[in-house]
Amino acid sequence: MDPFAQLAGVVDQDEEEGEEKDSRRRRSNCVDCERPSSVCWCPFLPDPPPQVRSRVLILQHPGEAKRGVRTALMAARGIADSRCTVRIGKKFPGQDQELGEALSSPGTRLLYPGEQAKELSREDTEVETLVVLDGTWDEAR
Ligand SMILES: [Zn+2]
Repeated sequence: MDPFAQLAGVVDQDEEEGEEKDSRRRRSNCVDCERPSSVCWCPFLPDPPPQVRSRVLILQHPGEAKRGVRTALMAARGIADSRCTVRIGKKFPGQDQELGEALSSPGTRLLYPGEQAKELSREDTEVETLVVLDGTWDEAR
């Protein structure tokens, strides 16, 4: 291996490890939102949490789970009575029975822009489950 590349590898590693040690010492993560305490969003969640009629099912791309803000977790924590749940994966059909039933139920709506998209309204009382995709648009496809 080229000695310069070797050196670069070692320097990178040292830096990463150093940062990790630093951040562990400086800031502890919130147990609820899993974010560093300095950027914890828990105090901003609505109290009491809003009651929703439909169940909200968030299908999250694994890449999104790694991104820092954790909006899906925010929704799950922010909606009353655990009506919002998050599933992580890339391909969902066939993953499990409960999810399969939710996805094929006539009362399920997918929140996604497109030619055949319809506007939801408060009068849509037959919406039992609202499926939301969490990821970049490329990942959502
Ligand atoms: Zn928090």
